[in-house]
Amino acid sequence: MPGKNVSKAAPLSPDEVALREELRADVEKLAGEIGERNMWHYAQLNGAANFIEDSFSHAGFHPRRDSYDMRGQACHNIEAEIPGSLQGAAASQPLHLPIIVIGAHYDSVFGSPGANDNGTGVAATLALARRFATANPKHTLRFVAFVNEEPPYFLSGEMGSLVYARRSKERGDKISAMISLETIGYFSDAPNSQTYPSPGLSLFYPKIGNFIGFVSNVQSRALLRRVITLFRKHAKIPSQGAALPAFIPGVSWSDQWSFWQHGYPAIMVTDTAPFRYPYYHSSNDTPDKLDYDRFTLVVSGMEKVIQELAK
Ligand SMILES: [Zn+2]
Repeated sequence: MPGKNVSKAAPLSPDEVALREELRADVEKLAGEIGERNMWHYAQLNGAANFIEDSFSHAGFHPRRDSYDMRGQACHNIEAEIPGSLQGAAASQPLHLPIIVIGAHYDSVFGSPGANDNGTGVAATLALARRFATANPKHTLRFVAFVNEEPPYFLSGEMGSLVYARRSKERGDKISAMISLETIGYFSDAPNSQTYPSPGLSLFYPKIGNFIGFVSNVQSRALLRRVITLFRKHAKIPSQGAALPAFIPGVSWSDQWSFWQHGYPAIMVTDTAPFRYPYYHSSNDTPDKLDYDRFTLVVSGMEKVIQELAK
């Protein structure tokens, strides 16, 4: 069994210390206070939706619910948007301006409180939205919390992000980049703490789980390379990236898959979840398992990436 995870993170700046405490508080709220949240725990699922909506509102947004019905029960993706400054310049065709989507699923798998999967992704989405709330980006930024990513909705027509991506396509939204924040809070410095879905990958990638991963399908390789280059320019945590065929186990395992189905470039940011995290999809995926310092360095690095992508 892995021992208590003592962080070997680079020192945090004062801004990053504040960010860390925001992330910690929101993971505690989602996984500690609300707990398991899915269609079997429907009140908690809606409790999480309300919490996310309130958080966006407090940051100064007017969040929108992108809702759909599943066997008589309403399900909601929650979206906060910052219109790009190019919007005014080309107001006759507002839907054809580039949009950057930053998103994470807020449901947890059956039987798990979902601290790392995906309390971390949601906490990061909320923290990033707060930091861009008063920004004036050229490109439109959308921060979205998706419902129903986990099985049995996983890779199905009832997955919240697939509903969202389909409606975006129908509206003619030009999404130039989608970034899926999926399970980003666990790191280890132990030998052989990192595994891979195929032996071929184990040859080329590190065996210590102390990095953040960037993964895409082959078609999104250009976006993946751009994001990794920007991340490495700014971030204080090691990173690894791979553009791989979508059939390799793990490559499609989150909301980026939904955007690929509609031809949008999309990538996943992840600590690699089942290939590293001993508490993946278990009742022990609780807030105390996370490395908040290194989780913070991932989010502060992504803040810089989004700043540059939105220029
Ligand atoms: Zn997940």
